[in-house]
Amino acid sequence: MILITLDGASTQEIFGGLDADIFRTVNKNFEKTAAFKNYNAATPTERREKLMPFFWKTLMTSHGSIAGNRSLKSEVKTTNKLFFSYPGYSEILTGQAHDDVIKSNSHPQNPYPSFLDFLHQKFAVGPNAVAEFSSWDAFMRIATNKPGSFVVNAAYATYPTDNKEINELFRLQSQVLAPWPSVRHDYFTFKLAMAYMKEHKTRAIHIGFDETDDYAHDKNYERVLDTLHMTDKWIAELWNFVQSDARYKGRTSIVITVDHGRGNSPKDWSDHGEDVPEAQYIWMAFVSPDVQLRGEWKDSETIYQNQIAATLCKFIGLDYSEQNREAGKPIARLFAK
Ligand SMILES: [Zn+2]
Repeated sequence: MILITLDGASTQEIFGGLDADIFRTVNKNFEKTAAFKNYNAATPTERREKLMPFFWKTLMTSHGSIAGNRSLKSEVKTTNKLFFSYPGYSEILTGQAHDDVIKSNSHPQNPYPSFLDFLHQKFAVGPNAVAEFSSWDAFMRIATNKPGSFVVNAAYATYPTDNKEINELFRLQSQVLAPWPSVRHDYFTFKLAMAYMKEHKTRAIHIGFDETDDYAHDKNYERVLDTLHMTDKWIAELWNFVQSDARYKGRTSIVITVDHGRGNSPKDWSDHGEDVPEAQYIWMAFVSPDVQLRGEWKDSETIYQNQIAATLCKFIGLDYSEQNREAGKPIARLFAK
């Protein structure tokens, strides 16, 4: 199974594509930008297809489904009330919010085991069956309560390996610096994860992209859009790899989601957190050989971020409540016959 997260990628752009009201707030001449030319169109459906063509026209049309478009009465929410990254990722990875304990992005090592810890122990086949590759350095702390038991590689971290491709990516990432000291470019995260999967046939991996959030905080809307577009290409590349490899083809479940939403007005679109209640609304996409749902969810019951861990485990036939009885339950609609 593959979990992909796009930090702070909001429901507004995922379901509606380029938002001219937001773009205008950061650039009066936005209609002259390359991003506007590339991603603008008359309807939300056309705009999102220009922004993320593979995701919308192939993945969600032929292979999977997505929840969280509130205009279709599909709602996805966090159960944490903090609406920022560490609490969101911890809720995704451990299956439970802990607002009383995890209330800062600089929280030290996660005291709670993640579903990656659970799978690592369940698979019991050494350190390479489970892995985490992310752009943001905090994942070194978020992804496991037992650092060192499997590869968690985030930001500019490296680890000793004989893999030539991985060593070259490690060399380059230290020279191609992102604008934020705690974040490497998503390109490296993606290529490292792919190289690792090819080498080890990893059974469970989390790929954590980040740049969508940081460019939004910087109010660089052009780059928010470009990053979503680029990430769409990587998702396509990953999908094509999965289809080309007998170990993965027809037996790989993918969940694509986000740690938190964002504000919904031209005033607070770049922001999220406790004082931005709109940021509790997120989205989740599911691709699995065991699930026949396609396209957008409509008129469905609200689902929650704390259900992802148990859902991912259920896709591979495991019961996550063995590790955490308080975790959210598998998402019923995906498994309804
Ligand atoms: Zn943020």
